[in-house]
Order: sequence, then C-alpha cells, then structure tokens
Amino acid sequence: MRLILLGPPGSGKGTQAQRLVHKHGIVQLSTGEMLRAAVAAGTPIGLQAKEIMANGGLVPDEVVVGIIADRIEQADAKKGFILDGFPRTVPQAAALDELLRKKHLKLDAVVELRVNESALLERVERRAQETRARGEEVRLDDTPEVLTKRLAQYRSLTEPLIHYYSEKRKLLTVDGMMTIEHVTRDINRILGAIGALEPKEHAAEPARKAAKGAKTSAKKPAKKAAKVARKAAKPAKKAAKGAKKAAKSAKKPAKGGGAKKAKKAAKKAAKKLTKKRAKR
Ligand code: AMP
Repeated sequence: MRLILLGPPGSGKGTQAQRLVHKHGIVQLSTGEMLRAAVAAGTPIGLQAKEIMANGGLVPDEVVVGIIADRIEQADAKKGFILDGFPRTVPQAAALDELLRKKHLKLDAVVELRVNESALLERVERRAQETRARGEEVRLDDTPEVLTKRLAQYRSLTEPLIHYYSEKRKLLTVDGMMTIEHVTRDINRILGAIGALEPKEHAAEPARKAAKGAKTSAKKPAKKAAKVARKAAKPAKKAAKGAKKAAKSAKKPAKGGGAKKAKKAAKKAAKKLTKKRAKR
C-alpha cells in the first residue's frame, strides 16, 4: 500500500502515519523527520535546510524530491509506504508521479485530514507542552509565529494538491477534528472500501475477512448499481424499439404501400378477366 497523508501542520499526519505503520507494517516516510535528522547530523542538506525550517519556509523541491527518491529505493519501503509531509508543492507531486511511473508503482490513495485552522494553534501548543513534559526538545518551528507562516505556506503551496489529486481520483477526505482513534478508524474504513488493504497486511484471519468484506461490499454496491441502471435502461430501449416499429408501420401506408398493392391486385384481376373473355 502506498499512501500520502495530506494536511496542514498540526492536523495529525504524523500521529496517523504511525498508527497506520503499526497496523499495516509499512514504513512512514516523513520528509520533516528526515530533514530534522539531517540538521542534527550537520550534513550538507541539513546545513542548507536549517535556516529555512526554523523560519517556517519550504526546503527547495529538488532537495526533498532527491531525499524521497533515495528513500523509496530502500528495502523496507518495498512493501509500501506512507508519505507524511511530502509532497508539499505541485512540482513535488509531479516529480513523485514520475518517480512512481518509472518504477511501475501505483499510488493507492491520498488521505486528506481536514481540520479547522482555529484548532491548529492550540494543537501545536499542546504538542510543544507534551514534548517538554517528556523532557524532549521542542521543535524550533512549533511556535505561534512560525506556525502562522507554515499555515500560510500550506494554503498557497500545498492546498492546490487537493485539486491535483482529486482530479486524479486519488483523494479521500477524512474529518481530522475527531478523536485520534476515530480518525484512524475512518482512514482504515475508507482504505478498506477502496480495496487498498491487501489481505496479507492483516495478521489475524478475522481482520483479513473484514478487509475482504469491506473490499467486496465496497465494490458490490457499485456493480449492483450498474446492473440496476442497465435494467432501468431496458424498458426504455424496448419502448424505443416499439416506437421505431410503430413509426415504420405508420410510414408504410403514408408511403402508399398498401394502396399500391391493392392497385396491382386489381390490375392483375382485370387482365385475367380480359384474357378469359377473349378465350370465350
Ligand atoms: P514537518 O515535520 O512535516 O512539519 O516539516 C517540518 C519542516 O521541514 C517544514 O516546515 C519544512 O521547512 C521542511 N519540509 C518538510 N517536508 C518538506 C517538503 N516536502 N518540502 C519542503 N520542505 C519540507
């Protein structure tokens, strides 16, 4: 299964990605995490990204595309992956399409976590508090000022991806304002309905059965609907055929077919009579 999680900062992409990883045994590819690791390690990419990230800007497309191209080549990504925080721009999405096309890989879905912007500041502040409480370092970009900038970037550069993937019939939207548990359930439900969950991704038999059920039940109504539509079209077809026939037969007398026939028969009978009389 190959998925993209799309949503503004604080929408819960990271949390949901981890839950999906846990359930389906595929890897989470977070460009934000990879970039933070690069910054911490002081690599050339890290040095290039450090300032940009601290200010809530976007790292250049070619840098993140390069990171992802290398990462999806690795063995643990062969079974599938969840992209979290990538793509973030239309050129990144186009580059990803090209990468997948070259590798003959299919993207199953793009799950958009839709949230109220007003709740995001609160969420990010809570995340910072929880991180501090665990004794961990708080992200430099988890401040109200930088969040405002990141949100503006999301609106102008990332939100167009909603249209991009909806045009490609890949977009699935989930209400990201519900509880974490509820959002996870909804994501799994819609992935099951589109048939993105492979049976082998489920460890237990009942779960496998459930996925199969979701898969078929999602397909069945569509099949059924098509059958019903075909059936509904039948009487209309029949009626059209009947009308055609009626029109044909209605045309015949108008063309004079019946009258012509009668005239011919009368002529024949007259000829016969003259012949008979002549014989006599
Ligand atoms: P995140 O952890 O996804 O919120 O990302 C943290 C920061 O890393 C972002 O604010 C950007 O500066 C940078 N970043 C992560 N992913 C991308 C990407 N796909 N394109 C550009 N910059 C990115």
